[in-house]
Amino acid sequence: MADVTVLGAGIGGLALACALSQCGLSVRVIEQAPELAEVGAGIQISRNGVRVLQALGVPLPAPVQSHGTELRDWARGRLVLTVPPPAAGPTWYVHRADLLAALRSRAAARGVVLELGRRAVAVEGNRIDFADGASETVDVLIGADGVHGVTRPFVNGPSQARFTRQVAWRALVPARGEPAVAQLWMGPGRHMVLYPLRSGRLLNIVAVEERRDWTDDSWRQAGDPTDMRARFAGFGGAARAALERVDAAHLWALHLHPVADRWHRGSVALLGDAAHPTLPFLAQGACLALEDAWVLAACLARGQGLDRYEALRKPRAQAVVAAAGRNAWRFHLRTPLRQVAQLALRSGLVPPPDFGWVHDYDATAAVPSSP
Ligand SMILES: Cc1cc2nc3c(=O)[nH]c(=O)nc-3n(C[C@H](O)[C@H](O)[C@H](O)COP(=O)(O)OP(=O)(O)OC[C@H]3O[C@@H](n4cnc5c(N)ncnc54)[C@H](O)[C@@H]3O)c2cc1C
Repeated sequence: MADVTVLGAGIGGLALACALSQCGLSVRVIEQAPELAEVGAGIQISRNGVRVLQALGVPLPAPVQSHGTELRDWARGRLVLTVPPPAAGPTWYVHRADLLAALRSRAAARGVVLELGRRAVAVEGNRIDFADGASETVDVLIGADGVHGVTRPFVNGPSQARFTRQVAWRALVPARGEPAVAQLWMGPGRHMVLYPLRSGRLLNIVAVEERRDWTDDSWRQAGDPTDMRARFAGFGGAARAALERVDAAHLWALHLHPVADRWHRGSVALLGDAAHPTLPFLAQGACLALEDAWVLAACLARGQGLDRYEALRKPRAQAVVAAAGRNAWRFHLRTPLRQVAQLALRSGLVPPPDFGWVHDYDATAAVPSSP
């Protein structure tokens, strides 16, 4: 089997490196950042993602086990509904930097070569051109280079990621004994999610607002905590108390491509956000990337090829991405529709959407890894 080169050392790229090396394939990872560092932020890993991490022997670092999701109204925090943990198994809250470090350490233990500080500027066939003027031709190339990556244009033709008119603020603050649940505070055109991290010592805040005015070229930047508080000023109770504690924040202008039409061209393929960026409103982007990683490595190891990978993964990614998009509408309802919807949920007239099919999925059973 040819050597595999992975472009991008995010959660998807590193998980793929672990999976490929576990299958006995030779792999190296090329990353533009000079150091592997993540911004301070949390991530939820549900059962479908945990299954892959377990199969790869990657422990969840300092995890907090979720006891469910509380849906709350924004202004006073009135509880609308408590959604119990998925029947498939618990969701865990972890710090992104810790998860990345755990994946990196597993990959290193398996002999994966990681080349940092190498920014690719173009992929043309099996040739990668780098920012420093170097070029390399590789056997098999997997683009795990995210929503703004350079592999997707080669596989699917040039296209610009579209601004979704949603901006996500992220911050970490010291915890004050908050419960081990995801609190989802729903307001008009905006929502906030709070959950504990690092064995309950930190509280993760994600605050999303609809916004038309993003003009900055950069899609990720440092944010002003005072501005953040002003934009979410209508939130009360524990949400407001959490905002008061923010002293550093980051903003993401959420950009999307549609799920890629083609997932591979020749021996160049896409994985994770490079193939199917998603709104984060179902907490599934990284979990999908973990599933991709397992299935892609298993397909290559079994000689089933990239067609099989695409056939197994594309319908699943399309369904999950669509479900996450529908949540954007649900979370941001305006008055009076919001009150009507909350009343229907509270009274049991309308059940909350059932995402069991998302969490039940077992990528490791879809394609066992050993040939
Ligand atoms: C606010 C928010 C909250 C989220 N919460 C969750 C959650 O709770 N659960 C969940 O499962 N998902 C969540 N997600 C989604 C998740 O973060 C992403 O789907 C996931 O990180 C994608 O991983 P990836 O490896 O495919 O891409 P990325 O994480 O984008 O990694 C791509 C890597 O490629 C590198 N790269 C890019 N271009 C080049 C180049 N030209 N040359 C070399 N290297 C390059 C980048 O530096 C980066 O390291 C959330 C996303 C957001 C924005």
